[in-house]
Amino acid sequence: MGAIQAIRGTRDILPGEIGYWQQVEMVAAQILSRALYQEIRTPIFEQTELFERGIGEATDIVGKEMYTFRDRGDRSITLRPEGTAGVVRSLIEHKLLASGGVQRLWYKGSMFRYERPQAGRQRQFHQIGVELLGSADPRADVEVIAIATDLLQALGLKNLKLDLNSVGRGVDRIAHREALVNYFTPYKDELDKDSQERLHRNPLRILDSKDEKTQAIAQNAPKIIDHLSDESRRHFDRVQQLLTDLGIEYQINHCLVRGLDYYTHTAFEIKSDDLGAQSTVCGGGRYDGLVAELGGPDTPAVGWAIGMERLILLLQKLVSAPALVPDFYVVSKGDSAEAQALILAQKLRSVGFRVELDLSGSAFGKQFKRADRSGAIACLVLGDSEAQNNTVQLKWMATQVQQAIAQADLLSNLDNLKQEIERHKN
Ligand code: ATP
Ligand code: MG
Repeated sequence: MGAIQAIRGTRDILPGEIGYWQQVEMVAAQILSRALYQEIRTPIFEQTELFERGIGEATDIVGKEMYTFRDRGDRSITLRPEGTAGVVRSLIEHKLLASGGVQRLWYKGSMFRYERPQAGRQRQFHQIGVELLGSADPRADVEVIAIATDLLQALGLKNLKLDLNSVGRGVDRIAHREALVNYFTPYKDELDKDSQERLHRNPLRILDSKDEKTQAIAQNAPKIIDHLSDESRRHFDRVQQLLTDLGIEYQINHCLVRGLDYYTHTAFEIKSDDLGAQSTVCGGGRYDGLVAELGGPDTPAVGWAIGMERLILLLQKLVSAPALVPDFYVVSKGDSAEAQALILAQKLRSVGFRVELDLSGSAFGKQFKRADRSGAIACLVLGDSEAQNNTVQLKWMATQVQQAIAQADLLSNLDNLKQEIERHKN
């Protein structure tokens, strides 16, 4: 029988790569907590209806990308394709929006979309996202954008571009919609198939078609910002002013849209030229209509999601994977030495050192080779004579300087030992 393989569009994240993931998650947790965002964890499957209402039936996600199945109780269940709908469902269910205050939340986890797998596009992928609910102020839009740029910058990523647009509010879009239909109708036969279908159903979405020919036609399409109401215009101007005040560069992208009524005002994407076709690392915007759409109290909101796989593809071009390296590699041979080595390793771990214990029982020479390969700062060696005297050989790997020391002394002078380890790391 053949060996079983991972499902197409899914990937194992192996130990050689996990350092990137942990680094991103650590830096994200740090940056988000500094802005008082709290983590929320919601289930990875929900009632299908949540996504139909919360993402919209006319979208690619709901139309053709969802993993939907019937469970044994004949309920329609969907693996979450994104994070926002579940977060909003949860906040409504637990009445956390009732008081009218501001909620700052973040999440991370797996998302599922049935798409054609390629670099930076998978069927199970991961996002980190934030949601800021309860403020309609342009400063909220700018706060979440600034957090995204901070995070990407803290990870050392450069050459990222922020694309910005405003889709106004539903009422602003009525006139724009008509202008779009008038503009695209003469080109109908040249549009890609999806866009032809959208021409009357949701012409705004033609603007973000990935088809090159359609994109070229869309370049000259009527711009939504020419149809913004004064109020929407003011919001958009203020967002731009505040971004400039913060020193965050951006460019207006008239084709950047979210095609559904509950998306309002700001839409943005952060892109990299180093990602090929899958260039968007972070996508977000304001969604003032969503909470009410899902049955909650009218609550303005803004958020974004970063695609972890794409982020890590970028990181991999910059730095090698952070590795887990021992402070001490413990080498031992002989029953009583091996028992003492085990105890010593546990004691050193309990006071905070990273300790790898060689379990092979092989000759010292072979154990030393493994100690070398481990990248350890120091090696601790216990043989019969050390076991008899309750001592240990402490050998600094970089200098090969070795000294015998009583085990009790090693453990009694921990500050000194930590300093020595730090000194040898540099
Ligand atoms: P795209 O246009 O690339 O399909 P999207 O508009 O569908 O992206 P969003 O729903 O805005 O993406 O999700 C936010 C981010 O999540 C994207 O910018 C991307 O980084 C990441 N992402 C989305 N779909 C996938 C996927 N199938 N595999 C990997 N990452 C993804
Ligand atoms: Mg997509």
